[in-house]
Amino acid sequence: MSFFKTARPFVIAGPCSAETREQVMETAAELSTMNVQLFRAGVWKPRTRPGQFEGNGVRALEWLQEARLQYKIPVAIEVADPAHIELALKYNIDVLWVGARTTVNPFQVQHLADALKGVDIPVMIKNPVNTDVDLWQGAIERFETVGVKDVAAIHRGFSGYSPSGGYRNQPNWPIPIELKRRKPELTMICDPSHITGARDRIAEVAQKAMDMHFEGLMIETHPRPEEAWSDAGQQVTPKQLKEILASLVIRDEFTNDMTGLMQLEYLRQVMDSIDSEIIDLIAKRMELSEKMGAVKKSCNMTAHQPARWREIVETRSDRGQMHLLSKEFIVELYETIHHESIRKQLLVLENQISEIKVQND
Ligand code: PEP
Ligand code: MN
Repeated sequence: MSFFKTARPFVIAGPCSAETREQVMETAAELSTMNVQLFRAGVWKPRTRPGQFEGNGVRALEWLQEARLQYKIPVAIEVADPAHIELALKYNIDVLWVGARTTVNPFQVQHLADALKGVDIPVMIKNPVNTDVDLWQGAIERFETVGVKDVAAIHRGFSGYSPSGGYRNQPNWPIPIELKRRKPELTMICDPSHITGARDRIAEVAQKAMDMHFEGLMIETHPRPEEAWSDAGQQVTPKQLKEILASLVIRDEFTNDMTGLMQLEYLRQVMDSIDSEIIDLIAKRMELSEKMGAVKKSCNMTAHQPARWREIVETRSDRGQMHLLSKEFIVELYETIHHESIRKQLLVLENQISEIKVQND
């Protein structure tokens, strides 16, 4: 039975960093009276630039051990090194997590996994900072391969050159959704604190995560957030956390509502047949592409033609707008279609597809 399997949402809360014994005890005392299943606190902090607070290390482990015993709440810390794991186990930490800056490095992830061989402890793996679902999945598999049975994934967003959409880290929802498709049993936890970087947007992203069928939430919580030694802008007080949790609407994947089910079934059948038509049409479009490849080859023309591509983007966006489809969506869709089309034409140009007869029919 997984440690993470509770009624949705499984809630992890606690400060970004364990700053002082008092701060740890005060936060744990409040959270232990709430619907919080796991207390988090960083004791070694990966900071982007040197010279900032980097955690209290072993001292903080002592505070966590004390809070765990006194308030009967399981505790979790981030580990980035086998030495961290050794100390975490020595101080009876209940759950470990791997941070986003560690998940990017398969060597380090393997060191961590090797240090957990034969150890029965739940592990949570944050997404790597870059948008690579394979790398995230690979990190999870390294732990599974050494025999760690209880693994969860934490979606904390992906960093970019400049924040867009007002987020500190871009959510890129299709990535956690794809990971869950590949690993249906995996518990998915969302970390709205690190995605938003802003406490006033946590509720909105937490709700979205629930509607994306995430099982859990990790929300940084501090008694006096604005005084926090790390991530001050994105932490909430225990009281604010309580309000956020109370405001969540929890919806299920399935329902017993027969009317709703029948309506959905009808709409899905229509959608299935539309999708079949879309695929048949795309296949026809690709056949045309191959024929065009043959013409371009005989005329000594390039496969990709920037002017034509500009025209496609413009005309298809205009057409999309007639149906209220956003330009971003149409461009992204046509980038995918056009890319495949060009790939097919290149095969013709480079003689990897046998001669195609172009008929004027
Ligand atoms: C954290 O949880 O405080 C943290 C450092 O997270 P991340 O690895 O997502 O940056
Ligand atoms: Mn943090």
